[in-house]
Amino acid sequence: MPAAPTIFDALWPEQPEALAALAETRQLQAGERVFKEGDPGDGLYLIESGQVEISGQMLGQGHRVFCRLGPGELFGEMAVIENHNRSASAAATESTVLHFLERDAMLALIQRAPGLAMRLLQLISHRLRDFNRVFLDEIVQAERLSVIGQFARSIIHDLKNPLQIISLNAELLATPGLPADLTTQAPGQIRAQVERINDLVTQILEFTQGGASRPQSLDYRQFLLDTLAQLQPTLDLKQIEMTITGELPAITLQADPRRLRRVLANLAGNAGDAMEGGGHLRLRVERRDHELLTELQDNGPGIADAVLERLFQPFATHGKSHGTGLGLSICRQIIEEHGGHICARNAPEGGAVFGFTLPLPRQGLEL
Ligand code: ADP
Repeated sequence: MPAAPTIFDALWPEQPEALAALAETRQLQAGERVFKEGDPGDGLYLIESGQVEISGQMLGQGHRVFCRLGPGELFGEMAVIENHNRSASAAATESTVLHFLERDAMLALIQRAPGLAMRLLQLISHRLRDFNRVFLDEIVQAERLSVIGQFARSIIHDLKNPLQIISLNAELLATPGLPADLTTQAPGQIRAQVERINDLVTQILEFTQGGASRPQSLDYRQFLLDTLAQLQPTLDLKQIEMTITGELPAITLQADPRRLRRVLANLAGNAGDAMEGGGHLRLRVERRDHELLTELQDNGPGIADAVLERLFQPFATHGKSHGTGLGLSICRQIIEEHGGHICARNAPEGGAVFGFTLPLPRQGLEL
């Protein structure tokens, strides 16, 4: 009658009895340590029953549990193969039975048996894959939390100033016997700050509305003319002259006019901020093979080196007292939703150039 399969059959089905002959069985109580970090890697362990917790010190995170292993699983193999000290600690979390396989005897066996070597390799590769997945998930989660934290800090910071100004002005208005000039200035100050808060909230909503574009058939030439007409009063206020260089091609695109208008308004607004005291803004559209390039060039001071690399990242702002650093990341988000890309450069003759592409409808596909 064949012997009942043991835990060694799972590790090396061809010759489980060779492993069993090497193994020294150990019985552990709950909480009892198998080995600790820094101990010599003198052998590996196979769990017969119970549970073992592998843990260790992580840089900046204190002591962490890496994984919990159960019957049929192997641990301690890395230190054995690398001939290093243990890089983690192992302890039983409940009453546990282990088989200890001494390093030199195990290595001798592996050298004679490629099947066993392969099986160990599979187990180690599996373990590394699990380990990577857990830590990648944690990194992504930590990254998310850090972005949310940064976002919250930036919003709170940007809201605090206007709220303080509103509060001060409200107190002024409630003070009896105040000089008339102060009383008349206060409502205007409050209105300006409310507008600032409104702008910020609108930007945050745009920023968090990823994927919200609803493309429709759009006469791009007409869209640009309408948009420029809408922007004109703001440009006039900032003493910016807007001109169109060359022809605007007559093209129908699939695009969301509301979202694209936001891009042009942000780019023109930034150019206006950069050209304090007025300037010139040139719009140019170029038809390429598969895409349409739209460029806005100003004659301001150009993009500062300090922000050039991070321009389209959220919260990248430079040289503005009220900048949120969200405007260009919103532009990038909208353009990428449309299947295009956005870029920026400083022109050799001075000033900044912001350009974005939009994919052209493919010839022959129009029904
Ligand atoms: P914000 O304008 O709130 O700072 P943006 O994302 O819109 O955020 O812009 C990021 C930064 O890019 C600005 O703070 C500014 O330093 C720079 N920038 C944007 N447009 C221009 C421009 N036309 N000329 C020079 N610098 C610009």
